[in-house]
Amino acid sequence: MKKIIIATKNKGKAEEFKTFFAKYDIEAISLLDLPDDMPDIEETGVTFQENAILKAETMANYLGEMVLADDSGLEIDGLDGKPGVYSARYAGEPTDDEKNIEKVLQDLATVPENQRTARFVCVLAVAAPDKETITRTGYCNGKITENKRGSNGFGYDPIFIPENQHLTMAQLSNEEKNSISHRRKAMNQLEDWLKQIS
Ligand code: IMP
Repeated sequence: MKKIIIATKNKGKAEEFKTFFAKYDIEAISLLDLPDDMPDIEETGVTFQENAILKAETMANYLGEMVLADDSGLEIDGLDGKPGVYSARYAGEPTDDEKNIEKVLQDLATVPENQRTARFVCVLAVAAPDKETITRTGYCNGKITENKRGSNGFGYDPIFIPENQHLTMAQLSNEEKNSISHRRKAMNQLEDWLKQIS
């Protein structure tokens, strides 16, 4: 059975990738399943793509295995694409979801309603020693609310309403969110590559 290391310590993401790769008879092993001695990788890129590639290639070279890494975030039109690659640390460090949401809502206070359109972006990179790295991107379009709603999920979920919905991401069940998420869309984009390698 083929295997792929998923460069995440996030349990929810790890499970989502395991279920996805199982359909292709590929065993997905996350960093939660490995000894805790991985190098810390600083996200120094200025695009999601650069950061995803940096993480996947550094890990693949360190482990000598095929590695998938992701980088994701929120782009808001009325804020010229911010918080973008700085989504996790938008209100400074240490990272704090509540403070990030407050800062976004404050920044948007003077922005016209029709510019509250936004999208979650996810870039997946797959790297392996001596192989060319591939990347795939997924988007989830929507808009930013004026107040927080719901308590599921993480990050900006309480202030993001996906297209064709009236509830925020944080009001949807995990299954509903996972079926429309930027991560799911990016995973679906991997299918052509998966067919080639299987
Ligand atoms: P990461 O790439 O998973 O580390 O995500 C970077 C940051 O983007 C997170 O800390 C969140 O602030 C934001 N983000 C990424 N994906 C989501 C999502 O599905 N919901 C809410 N926020 C997200």
